Amino acid sequence: MRYEKIQAKTLLSKPIYGDAWFHSNRSLNAYRGCEHGCVYCDGHCQYYRIDNFYTHIRVKENAPQVLCRELGRARFQAQSKMQSETLVRFLSDQEKTKAMDTGPRKIIVGASGGVSDAYQPAEEEYQITRQILETLYDFRLPVFILTKSNLVLRDLDLLKEIHKQAFVSVCFSITLHDEEMRAIFEPKSSATWERFEALKQIRKAGLFGGVMAYPTIPTIGDSIENMQGLAKEAKKAGAEFILFSGMTLKPGRQKDYFFNVVRQQVPQVYDLLQQIYANNHTYGYPIVELLPVNPGLQGRKICQKVGISDRSVRHMPPGEPEANIQVINRLLDLVFYRQILLGTPRNMWKPYQDLAIKIEKGVEDLQKLANKGVLEDHLGVSPKMAGVVNEILHQGTFNALIRTQSELEKLSQYTTEK
Ligand code: SF4
Repeated sequence: MRYEKIQAKTLLSKPIYGDAWFHSNRSLNAYRGCEHGCVYCDGHCQYYRIDNFYTHIRVKENAPQVLCRELGRARFQAQSKMQSETLVRFLSDQEKTKAMDTGPRKIIVGASGGVSDAYQPAEEEYQITRQILETLYDFRLPVFILTKSNLVLRDLDLLKEIHKQAFVSVCFSITLHDEEMRAIFEPKSSATWERFEALKQIRKAGLFGGVMAYPTIPTIGDSIENMQGLAKEAKKAGAEFILFSGMTLKPGRQKDYFFNVVRQQVPQVYDLLQQIYANNHTYGYPIVELLPVNPGLQGRKICQKVGISDRSVRHMPPGEPEANIQVINRLLDLVFYRQILLGTPRNMWKPYQDLAIKIEKGVEDLQKLANKGVLEDHLGVSPKMAGVVNEILHQGTFNALIRTQSELEKLSQYTTEK
């Protein structure tokens, strides 16, 4: 294993709003490359241009300083008298209080940006993620973490402090209940039971947390035993939700590596998997008709049996109106079900996502606007979309979502349980 210290020029991603999967709207990677070595990892594909992804880990040594500068700039832009390059921790107490209480509060940072795990083995020594959390604590910002490692428990003290002033959501990526399979496909991550145990401790400490159960590997992870086993363990650990979804395999080194391992370790499913991904789709989508099961639909059915939510739960920074997050959550439920589970055309879910984005970017308390009868004008939306907001505020849901859910129920009845 080779570790190399590098200097990052920038860290935070551009803002992303209306994401039906993740809770964060800005993400960052403390490392480039990931030692966990998951065989299906998307970060391994050519698109990210990270050579020797699993064995050469670039450590962004200056990440906390870069983050501090970028967040400081965002805050100070709202407070022109302050110097944009000043690091918050070097301000006087009075200046710091003033700076901390001004500017955008809606930045929710995802500490695992997708092409590395914030708590991979390198973190034990370099502690970049820990320093990033300290910076986020200084800025009183919420944190979203997605990891496959129980090393996150090392930072529980700090996470609890962040949760007191904003919020922390720690989600675990857990895809395989069977330890033998886990060791093949996620060789250097924590064992599945270790991740559930860590989740239990996270929840016991009062933090938010759930399970992202994807990618579900067709013919391996999509069995009832596997999915039900994960859902039951998630419930036992106190997870807020467990979200199942399928696997993409982009042509090139991601796909080649995956099939190389499958050929050697689980040759009995090699041919079927080859057929499922034979289309070489640019984004790695499988041929849906060949999938043994639809993991999203089967996952939903299992969640209902086990009694756990199948949708990720969003939280908002303190001070944000409760009504607004409720509306965003329901709108994005519809987006997820229609876009991901049902694969309906874009025009059937995009208007709802656009509305969620508008609200997430910042509007006044929707409940107050509704009480005054000015939703339509204030949001600049059609009477139909203003009606949707009103429905959610009054009933906790809306008709289009109810119809979508019953469509899913019908489809689930025809889903073959593998
Ligand atoms: S933990 Fe995540 S980033 Fe790391 S190898 Fe596995 S899938 Fe990739």
